[in-house]
Amino acid sequence: MSTESLNRQSAPPVPAAAVSAPKPAAAPPAKLAPSIAQTMLRNGPTFNVRRMPYVTMASLALHALVLGACTFIVMKHPQIVEEIFTTVTDTEEPNEPIVEQSMVQPEDAPKEIPQDSSVSQTVSSNLQFETKGPIDLNVSDGIPQLEADTSGLPGIAGIKIGSETSGRMSAQARKMMAQKYGGNTASEAAVASGMKWLSNHQMANGSWSFEHSKCPDCKGQCSQDGSLKDCPTGATGFALLAFLGGGHTHQKGDYQKNVKRGIEFLLKTAEQTPAGLDLRGKVTSNEGMYVQGLCTIALCECAAMTTDTRVKKAAEGAIDFIIKAQNPKDGGWRYTPGQAGDTSVVGWQVMALKSGFNAKIKFPTQVFKGAENYLKLASIEGGSKYTYDPATEGAQASDTMTAVGLLCRMYLGWDHKNKKLADGVEYLDKHKPSPNSMYFNYYATQVLHHWGGEEWTRWNDVMRDQLVRTQHPLKDGHLAGSWDVADPHGGAAGRLYMTCLSVMTLEVYYRHLPMYSRDKIKVEF
Ligand SMILES: [Zn+2]
Repeated sequence: MSTESLNRQSAPPVPAAAVSAPKPAAAPPAKLAPSIAQTMLRNGPTFNVRRMPYVTMASLALHALVLGACTFIVMKHPQIVEEIFTTVTDTEEPNEPIVEQSMVQPEDAPKEIPQDSSVSQTVSSNLQFETKGPIDLNVSDGIPQLEADTSGLPGIAGIKIGSETSGRMSAQARKMMAQKYGGNTASEAAVASGMKWLSNHQMANGSWSFEHSKCPDCKGQCSQDGSLKDCPTGATGFALLAFLGGGHTHQKGDYQKNVKRGIEFLLKTAEQTPAGLDLRGKVTSNEGMYVQGLCTIALCECAAMTTDTRVKKAAEGAIDFIIKAQNPKDGGWRYTPGQAGDTSVVGWQVMALKSGFNAKIKFPTQVFKGAENYLKLASIEGGSKYTYDPATEGAQASDTMTAVGLLCRMYLGWDHKNKKLADGVEYLDKHKPSPNSMYFNYYATQVLHHWGGEEWTRWNDVMRDQLVRTQHPLKDGHLAGSWDVADPHGGAAGRLYMTCLSVMTLEVYYRHLPMYSRDKIKVEF
């Protein structure tokens, strides 16, 4: 995986100086040698300063100064020079049009999914990206490339970031993205503190537990265990997502050991079945497909961010399980494989499919048609709002399901020009972040982030500060970095769930690039 590159289009202090410095360092012999030689030829073998032309003297002094500066930089900052020579790439970037990208176009989704699987197509990097308007994909990995204007950010010049997930791939890129999209020092500190709490609550076998108080380091110091007592894969999936969202993998970052142990636990626990890789673990209630979705997202994100083929293979199996668990009639998912859908479970599966897409996993596009069909059934007011269970007589819209449904719609192709999406965004904008539902906030934040504009700014200003304000501070001891459960959905999964969703919500600035960005960020792995 390559690192971000610097280019020379703008000239903020550090990168510009660093980039320009090595050039004269390499060039001096060619430039200086003729100048000295000519002087010596003119002046004879004796080096007589008084007889040298002023222009030559000035040139010599200038070159000496540049050489001295280069030597100083090389000696003081060898890593800068090394990075420049290894990462600087072609700076002649084409002025690309704005890209609006979707996995599939949702028009004319059938009422029921066609049963003839022979017509299914394979998602690949150059086949299934249908786009609106002109586009130059310029991709090596099938991921849309967006451009962002970083010129206003001090010290960060046109960082090249690679794919949808790659805004999180280096501390520098994360800093740039957080600044650009509305994070601040306090929100970044909250993320760091949240991860520290998570790392302190990992179980001895590498998993996490919704009964976090039982972990060796906590020993009951933190309250609000979840009531879901035996669901280590679900808790592990949640925790891994929080780490991965901040750019930490088992190959990179500050929490490599934690992530490695978590991934190993998932791989060890997963069961290979004819229906794909089953990550649900022991299912005791309705959590089965939630857990499958969560863990699949974690594996796919990890696969997209690393070169680990073992993880990629597991991610493929996990996606396969989700595809085979889709209800063949309505296109949805629910608690057990094959059940008719509900919007809450559908949301996690669509997110998982999108993560699989980012990880370049191939699967039938028909599965998206099915999801699209389900969303049509769950639509209220033409798709600006969503209900939990479309099979229920007189089903009403709910705020949380509306946020879930709208995000799914965005991933499946709706864009700025869609009136129903605009209406839905306006509804969320007026609703404002919830003081007590992180499930709603988590999804709605992503919708507004992708939408952008003043709606995003309004939302984010409240959401970000609310999360920073409600996190336990250092003086609270072992609780520091976690969030109390203030969520009607939080009883089952407790403090760990609340903390993971809060961290992931504060990672929104770099966890996913905004889908409809009008900015100019060039992205590349
Ligand atoms: Zn604790």
